[in-house]
Parts: sequence; C-alpha cells; structure tokens
Amino acid sequence: MTANSFTAPQRAAIIINPAKTVEIDVRELAARHAEENGWGETLWFETTKEDPGVGQAKEALAQGADIVIAAGGDGTVRCVAEVLCGGDVPMGLLPLGTGNLLARNLGMDITDYDGAMAGALAGTERKIDVVRARRSDPDLEQLFLVMAGVGYDATIMADTDEELKHKVGWLAYVDAGIRNLPGKPVKATVVIDGRTAVQRGVRSVMVGNCGKVQGGLEIFPEAKMDDGLLDVAVLAPHHGRLGWLSVLAGMIGKGRGKDTAVEFFQGKTVEIILEHKDDYQLDGDHEGQGKHVLMTLDPSALTLRM
Ligand SMILES: [Mg+2]
Repeated sequence: MTANSFTAPQRAAIIINPAKTVEIDVRELAARHAEENGWGETLWFETTKEDPGVGQAKEALAQGADIVIAAGGDGTVRCVAEVLCGGDVPMGLLPLGTGNLLARNLGMDITDYDGAMAGALAGTERKIDVVRARRSDPDLEQLFLVMAGVGYDATIMADTDEELKHKVGWLAYVDAGIRNLPGKPVKATVVIDGRTAVQRGVRSVMVGNCGKVQGGLEIFPEAKMDDGLLDVAVLAPHHGRLGWLSVLAGMIGKGRGKDTAVEFFQGKTVEIILEHKDDYQLDGDHEGQGKHVLMTLDPSALTLRM
C-alpha cells in the first residue's frame, strides 16, 4: 500500500443518460451519498447519441474512478459493462430506464434510488456472466447481460410505440406484442456448442443470461447469471393465433412436454443462422436486422456492487 491509499478518498463516477426523465435530483443524491460514505467528489459524465456510454466509461477509468455507476436504461448499462468487463473496477446501477431489465433480474427495487446509490458505494460485490454477440453484416460485436433475440421478440422491440413506452413503461411492450401477433416464420439453424440443435421454421430464438423480460414474463425460469451457461428458447408456433397458445403452454410447462412449439436448450456458445434477415434485439433494445449471430458466454466477467 502506498501512503496515497490512506489519504485519497474513493471516487464514484456516474455515467448518466440525460434523455431519461427522472423525478429526483441525481447530482444531489450522488453528493449526499459520497459525503455520508467519506468519498470524494463524484465524477460526472453524460451520454450522447453518438457515444451512449463507452467513451464516458473509459474516461471514468482513466480518471481513477473506484466504481462506475450506470445511471440510465439497459442501453447505458450495456455500454458501461463493455468497458468494465474483465477489469477490477465494479459497476453500480442506478436504474432510470423503461425496462431496467438487469436491475429487475437482480431483484433491485427500481424505485429506491437511495438504496441503489448506497449499494453502489458500500454494498456487496458479485460477479456475473456477460454474453458477447457477434453479428455479421453489419460486422459488429456487442455485449449483453439479460437477453438477446431474433425474430418475433425483436419485432416487438422495434414496434413499441415510444410515446406509449414513456407513459406506461413496460406495458407498452405487451401492447406491441399483441399487435404483432400473427408474425412470420423464418427458416433457422441454431447451433449450440458446435452441434446443430434446431433446423426449421421458427418465429423467434431467444438467448438469455437472465430469466425475466418485459411484462414480468419469465422466459427462462431457471436461468442463472453466474452459472456459466446460456439459456436458449426456440419459439415455433404451429400456425395462427391458436399456435401461440401452445407457445404459452410450453413456457408454463418449461418445454418438457411433447409439444415442440417451444424448446429450451443450454450451452456456452449459440450460433443462429437465418434464411433471411429478421429483427434483432439486445436487452430490450432493437438493434436493426441480422441473419447471422454468434453468442459466446464470458463467465464471471463483470463485477457488480449493489
Ligand atoms: Mg446462465
């Protein structure tokens, strides 16, 4: 230990998405908690459309932040995680988004800003798995923490009415789901740990690190974000609206019956090859379209403090 470690107070960095409407004064909240814990002045960074958090998180590390707090939605969380992943500095969460999927999966009370802040500065640390999703055309690697998918679930993300989303939060996702119901199947090959697991027309392939998605629906009830495994759900309803009933039934029965409307798998890598481009989403954000993605689990790569 150097003499400096006894004298220099710890500092938190907050990466905030200024586009989020918040009913609290986040600067005041941060200052109060820093003072209560004997920490130095909080480093403050705002995300922009051009740089939704990666550059800011790198700058926070360069300035010596002892924790980097993602204050925004799951998009901000993904960007901050991308930088902190594999390093020693923990990530804190101040959920200000619509879905707040990671926070919900961690069991955080998303209305308790004081609790979130206190946890980030003085809570307990845990390591979670992260998933790297590499798409070709566009050739792009992105990280996700909750769930990514192609097909029907991603179409819902794309179709969600922004105004409605703002007013009613995650209920908007459910509304979009209903409007999209008939959907279109796409021929898909799903390769898990190098083995072809599925090859047929599907409506959606979802890959999860956590179980809970929008609307409180638990797609992967047994998914754990620190077990070194990805959970995969392939949704292939038979036809029409009645077909979707069998998907719901399959989810409730966790895919163990003879009905193949929904099938579940686990593995460390998942490759999805579609016959044509379809909608693609990461942690609830629509990310354009794609026809090929390789998802690889990076076990215990991110440290959280909460
Ligand atoms: Mg897992």
